[in-house]
Amino acid sequence: MVHFVGAGSGAPDLITLRGARLLGEADVVIYAGSLVNPELLTLTKPGCEVHDSAKLTLEEVIALIERAEREGKTTVRLHTGDPSIYGAVREQFDALTERGIDFDVCPGVSSFCGAAAALRAEYTLPNVSQTVIITRTAGRTPVPERESIRSLAAHQATMVLFLSTSLTEKLQGELLAGGYGETTPAAVVYKATWPEEKIFRCTVGTLHKTVTENGMKKTALIVVGGCLGGEYLRSLLYHPDFTTEYRKGEGMKIAIFAYSHGGCAAARRVRAVLAEAETVCYAVPRLEEAGFLPLAKDIYRERFSSMDALIFIGACGIAVREIAPYLVSKKTDPAVLCIDEKMQFVIPLLSGHIGGANDLARRLAAALGAAAVITTATDVNGKFAVDAWAAKNECAISSMLLAKKVAAEILEHDVPLVSDFPIKGALSGGIVEKTQGALGIVIGYCTKEPFAETLRLTPRVLRVGIGCRRGTAQETIEAAVAAVLSAHQLDPSAVKGVYSIDLKQQEAGLLAACAKHNWPTVFYTAEELRSVPGEFTDSPFVQEMTGVGNVCERAAMRGAEKLLVKKTAVDGVTVAVAAEHWEVSFG
Ligand code: SAH
Repeated sequence: MVHFVGAGSGAPDLITLRGARLLGEADVVIYAGSLVNPELLTLTKPGCEVHDSAKLTLEEVIALIERAEREGKTTVRLHTGDPSIYGAVREQFDALTERGIDFDVCPGVSSFCGAAAALRAEYTLPNVSQTVIITRTAGRTPVPERESIRSLAAHQATMVLFLSTSLTEKLQGELLAGGYGETTPAAVVYKATWPEEKIFRCTVGTLHKTVTENGMKKTALIVVGGCLGGEYLRSLLYHPDFTTEYRKGEGMKIAIFAYSHGGCAAARRVRAVLAEAETVCYAVPRLEEAGFLPLAKDIYRERFSSMDALIFIGACGIAVREIAPYLVSKKTDPAVLCIDEKMQFVIPLLSGHIGGANDLARRLAAALGAAAVITTATDVNGKFAVDAWAAKNECAISSMLLAKKVAAEILEHDVPLVSDFPIKGALSGGIVEKTQGALGIVIGYCTKEPFAETLRLTPRVLRVGIGCRRGTAQETIEAAVAAVLSAHQLDPSAVKGVYSIDLKQQEAGLLAACAKHNWPTVFYTAEELRSVPGEFTDSPFVQEMTGVGNVCERAAMRGAEKLLVKKTAVDGVTVAVAAEHWEVSFG
């Protein structure tokens, strides 16, 4: 028996438990000596025969395995990373099959995963890229023309390049010609997860220089794409302020820092005003104030990433210096505010809009009798701040690029707005209700784009009711929902959740489809569904099976305002869609 085993990307403890067991049981080990960490060989049993395949041809490797088989021995063929990526394993599989030799494969941590870990990166970031391209430049091994770097670069997805550090001049040219910008972030990761791991962050424009200046020749990966930058849209589902039917939105998490006794007194008042928030107060250690934790240097870094807001009681200069190393992007940075210790001014320094610093400053100023020092252009001009509004109202933003464009344009002239929902109160400054224009905003749940460039702000208001037979596949359910949404031009990002009858609570395909799309599920009893008021497409058969004449329409409409899509059957799945009441308010 032959086991192909992925050794992992370098660190010896990154091999899987199964891989380690197989290695310990093997009589013969053939390992890719050029890249596999030799420390792994300490896992082999005494008397195990070990060969380095770097010195062998395919034929010699197969001959070693054949001999082991004849002697009734077990072989482990140890490949670096995961065997499926540039492992040259297929030719070995085929040679063994031809000879009637049985084999299996144990996967491993590929170096592209090791590199992501080293970079602390997520390759698939919302609004940046949902695709990872794994490729290489053509060297001695040719790459099909239709997979040229230039054509792959056109997608501007996350790209991970293996085996390419010796050809970076050409590579850089192709990446640029294909569509990445000079400033698109890039990184070279040398020996990811090994003790000698090195990371060189650069941009596409400086890639070649970075590789040559640092003498990177082999055992390195190149990662390219916006996912290495600071701009992305935070996943709405895990946003602390986003209330799903399962997780109630928590209050904000706020850290307050004080540097004097007067500052501590002010911090106590601020904390009292923010009673519903989860607050933690720090003071410099020499103050020894009750209720304050001692303020150490590394607290800022930790709190910057774990808190929704940081409030400094003291000079702006202190705050600026302490937070400067940790700034990432206005979409992820917490709100940072300064309050002088006499509480005359509340100054939002960072993340005024999406992070909510402006709102927090206004609230605190009102409660403390202080002045809020607001400096963001849209606010001082009394104009609509699109990003802040979307964050506050839990709306998805269809394009950050267009949101930026709207923010700039609104300072020059009014931007048209179409709303699917009633508008309560006055319109915000800088917007007019109008259905045409070059650049406009739609607040709604449809995918229609009435303007030449349309920024869509989408609240989660659509309730998708589903009925299905037992054992319906996940894909069938996903396809049915997608087909119904698309046929009615409904935006998938407006889906609030999926609703059905309690008989379906354990329906594996339905649960898997909902989990995949992050749709919360709610199941009602027949009784609850029967009591939903309205006219529904009831059927005696469904009544007989479930105790209620219609599942999908009634489940969708429970608590909703308008049935948008009546019961529609797609491949045995019945789908209905209803919209909850929602109002637009700029107050
Ligand atoms: N099967 C392996 C890849 C083998 S090809 C895997 O899944 O990772 C060999 C190439 O992989 C090297 O030239 C280099 O580009 C990359 N590589 C392998 N290990 C690496 C590591 N620890 N760090 C960076 N790149 C690595």
